[in-house]
Amino acid sequence: MKKYATIITILTLFNFLNLQFCFSKEIKTTKTEKGLEDSKPKNIIIMIADGMGIGSITAYYYLNTNASISKFKNIALMTTHAEGALVTDSAASGTAIATGFKTKNGYISKLPDGSNLETIMEIGKKKGKATGIVVTSSITHATPAAFYSHVSSRGNENEIAYFITNQTIDVFFGGGISFLTTTYIPKTSYQEESNQITNNSVNLLEIMKYFNYKIITNYDEFYSYNPLNYEKVISVLEPVHLPSAISGNRKVSLKEMTEKALNILSKNPNGFLLMIEGSQIDWEAHGNNAKGLLAEIDDFDKAVETVLNFAQKRNDTLVIVTSDHETGGVSVIGGVIGKHSVIRFSSKDHTAIMVPVFSFGPYSEKFRGIIDNTFIGKTVIEILSQN
Ligand SMILES: [Zn+2]
Repeated sequence: MKKYATIITILTLFNFLNLQFCFSKEIKTTKTEKGLEDSKPKNIIIMIADGMGIGSITAYYYLNTNASISKFKNIALMTTHAEGALVTDSAASGTAIATGFKTKNGYISKLPDGSNLETIMEIGKKKGKATGIVVTSSITHATPAAFYSHVSSRGNENEIAYFITNQTIDVFFGGGISFLTTTYIPKTSYQEESNQITNNSVNLLEIMKYFNYKIITNYDEFYSYNPLNYEKVISVLEPVHLPSAISGNRKVSLKEMTEKALNILSKNPNGFLLMIEGSQIDWEAHGNNAKGLLAEIDDFDKAVETVLNFAQKRNDTLVIVTSDHETGGVSVIGGVIGKHSVIRFSSKDHTAIMVPVFSFGPYSEKFRGIIDNTFIGKTVIEILSQN
């Protein structure tokens, strides 16, 4: 009996090893066949629809069955909770996406203990990537801020603004002139003692000019802006945020800003990182305004089209389209499609409902199943560390 047992053990072990061998051989073959799928993306584009959840996507999709967000094959569901809170704000969730770490609500790329978290843009910069941010809010608002600044209160937008002088971001499109032209910096002790400088306000745009940034603060300049060579640019077109899409006063769409940003960033031979945010989807959901919500999603979806067209023509760009959290507890009930009567809101605030993640390009297959928002930051950092 003992003999048999030994033989059976040996046979089982052999079979196991043999299986292992076959399995690893199969993986290797698949890898070689896939080729491109396994190559590291040179460019990474993260699109964040602030506050857009499954409910609002459903309503938008029934109105536009040809929506760009319906073109993706890789889809995941993502949890968005913050450190110590089930319901996140844009600061904590933006931090998770930008750094791969959870933090408390209100904190921008800082841990609750106050230590700074390195952002994907800061890491990308060190790796020679060009970096860009395109938003319909002020560029100092919570989500964009998470990619280039470190503050313990998202409301401190003057402090956030000052971080642009670190030159983490090469290309900025959005609003926020007021925060950039009159930022108050704390006096240094030398200044206090010597009493040399009485006015401690500073025009950051003047400083950025000195750092060779092209500065654009009016629409005509924006429309005609079409640089032949790579350059750093800050285009801020409104004192704070761009007007809402539903108002009819938004003079540049997210798509137009995205096109210009891609045109510039793609001129960097070493690739780029770009974050694009449909910032005001969230605000319309807070206001429980169905019409406004769908108009903002439409503005966002058209920018998705531009990004997909860009990425589909090449094989080196990873596109991730997601949301930082759901807002409004949006439900789709019976009603008349097109009359904006199908949406019901169950909240005027953010919710903890999972949000979808749509992805395309090399590495996009990583974004499947149920993931956490920190997974995006962690995966982007993994890709950057391998480049
Ligand atoms: Zn919000």
